[in-house]
Amino acid sequence: MLVLINILVWISVYDLSQPQYLEVSFFDVGQGDSIFIETPLGHQILIDGGPDSTVLEKLANEMPFWDKEIDLVILTHPEHDHISGLIDVLESFEVKNILWTGVKRNNYEYNEWKKRVREENSNVVIAQSDQCIRSGDVFLFVLWPDENLENKEVKNINNSSIVMRLVFGRVSFLFEGDAFKSVEKKLIEKNKELKSNVLKVAHHGSKTSTGEEFLKEVFPEVAVIEVGKNNRYGHPHQEILDELEKYGIKILRTDRDGDIKIISDGLNYIIK
Ligand SMILES: [Zn+2]
Repeated sequence: MLVLINILVWISVYDLSQPQYLEVSFFDVGQGDSIFIETPLGHQILIDGGPDSTVLEKLANEMPFWDKEIDLVILTHPEHDHISGLIDVLESFEVKNILWTGVKRNNYEYNEWKKRVREENSNVVIAQSDQCIRSGDVFLFVLWPDENLENKEVKNINNSSIVMRLVFGRVSFLFEGDAFKSVEKKLIEKNKELKSNVLKVAHHGSKTSTGEEFLKEVFPEVAVIEVGKNNRYGHPHQEILDELEKYGIKILRTDRDGDIKIISDGLNYIIK
């Protein structure tokens, strides 16, 4: 059953004579994830904030200086390279809605995040599969986690990552957070619609993720890897790069290409 959560339900009322674009920016924030989505209705969604305050500079490039509001902030999972910049975002912007898993951890950044979320007075929603966020003709489907993780401890924090599929007309994106192959397998078993034009490769191109079966299901044309230059983890792994190449998938990397922006009218997309 699909639950349409009421945090971002907007009905399209825009002028059809104007070209309407969806913009998805994969910010180069070093070793970490940060993705900014602007819908044709002008709604702004930020998925993760990278490892430091670099995200603030990136947002300043995308948003007019007077715009201090973000409609929705999504934390895929509370690890340093995803959560840290979001703490700065909560300090600098008025965030109307927050979507996260509520999963339990105990470290300085996590406690700081929880404190800021409380102070922000946003509408906080605990993510769970089968939720959908809508902005006009743009839909963001939550595919994972498949259970409510609020105040729960998990063995592998990466596998608590919110996995989402963004759909605008005929164009779609899959955001995997840092989910491992075991999650990918479960998504296939649960018959989730995974096919997407663009795949945000999980876990910075680590070989913990992006199993071949999963890749065949998603069948992307473009793979985006958010990864830092000369990172100490050796991400992305050659095995994953070889696999993507084997299927003729175009690879974009923030360490080499910098910020990556994909713009779509719902029929086609271009990469900037
Ligand atoms: Zn990560």
